[in-house]
Amino acid sequence: MSIESDLYLIKDYDKKYCMQVFSPLDVAFVKGKGCTLYDTEGKKYLDMIGGIAVNSVGHAHPKLTKAIADQSKKLIHCSNYYYIPSRSELAGRLCKKSFADKVFFSNSGAEANEAAIKLARGYFHYKGEDKYEIITAKMSFHGRTMATIAATGQPKFSKPFEPVTPGFKYVEYNNIDDLYAAVTDKTAAIMLELIQGESGVHPAAPDFIVAVRKLCNEKGILFIDDEIQTGVGRTGKMFCYEHYGVYPDIMTLAKGLAGGVPIGATLCTEEVASGFHVGDHGSTFGGNPLATTAANTVLDIITEENLIANADLIGDMMLDKLQALKAKYPMIHQVRGRGLLIGIEFNPIISAAMMKDVLLEKGFLVSAIGASTIRIAPPLIISKTEAMSFVNTLEKILKAQAKQMR
Ligand code: PLP
Repeated sequence: MSIESDLYLIKDYDKKYCMQVFSPLDVAFVKGKGCTLYDTEGKKYLDMIGGIAVNSVGHAHPKLTKAIADQSKKLIHCSNYYYIPSRSELAGRLCKKSFADKVFFSNSGAEANEAAIKLARGYFHYKGEDKYEIITAKMSFHGRTMATIAATGQPKFSKPFEPVTPGFKYVEYNNIDDLYAAVTDKTAAIMLELIQGESGVHPAAPDFIVAVRKLCNEKGILFIDDEIQTGVGRTGKMFCYEHYGVYPDIMTLAKGLAGGVPIGATLCTEEVASGFHVGDHGSTFGGNPLATTAANTVLDIITEENLIANADLIGDMMLDKLQALKAKYPMIHQVRGRGLLIGIEFNPIISAAMMKDVLLEKGFLVSAIGASTIRIAPPLIISKTEAMSFVNTLEKILKAQAKQMR
């Protein structure tokens, strides 16, 4: 029996059998094509959130589905006891595209960050230096495992699970004085998102990131760049650090890297890779043939379809149009972001949850962050027409709201 087309049954099973850690909207999707998703009733939605920045090449991209299907007929999984051709190839391609010399593959963003945290501590351990503290930013988000909830600078994620992993400190984002004050002779790394995605799409100030790099150089501290959300073309560059003109020592990727097949990657320089010796870290699934074939294919599609330039172009256009809406409708407080990662913050009279629901009813998917911000992170293949249909619909909603308020 398949419950696929019966929303009531799906909800029933979910409530009964799934741990209730999510609060899903009243909809279930059964298929997708490009930037469009279809629900159990056949209703179409424009996917402006892309599985939270995951479906980088859209839904059911023919080249990606073919690559996954072909690979699944040959070899889905084999362990890291053996060489894996697609894993070696993907590692080489990521290194050639970035500052990095070495890669470790895992299965999610949190795992990629766990590896980064371990690697930073291992690096100083093997150098014989007693450095273990990791400084992160308040309002950051780095994942849901025990170490990454400790890294996350939002106590609401860790409070029920205390005691948290020790050795983490939090500073104001974009405040270099606060950061200098937090550094001690025990500081191993500074770990940052270049755009804080989960707390409302807040980009780092360019002078802050340049100063972070300088501080790291001065004090011999590692700079960990969490690009789980911003990496792989999302911001209009392959990696977000390219906007800032500085290199990190460690970078983490996940989300969009394999277009929806679970993957995580921790990249670092040759020198920092000395923080892991044989047996120090591992993963059963990490880097398996299916996931790394999918990621290699995503990288092919990104190049062939010029998707980084598209993210830049459509992102700029949307930011312009949304800023114009802000000038017209005072209900918009701020528009922030870069490329195809954009936050629209409303004034407190407009609830982000309400806006998300109205957009859903009109056939557009976004996420609500906190009380007043909606986030968009559509597939990198989004067209100008699709992006404009979102902006025009948002304007119609704002117009109707403005009328009601008069
Ligand atoms: N780091 C950042 C910046 C993220 O945005 C996320 C997820 O939203 C994570 C880490 C955790 O990734 P995952 O949910 O794949 O574990």
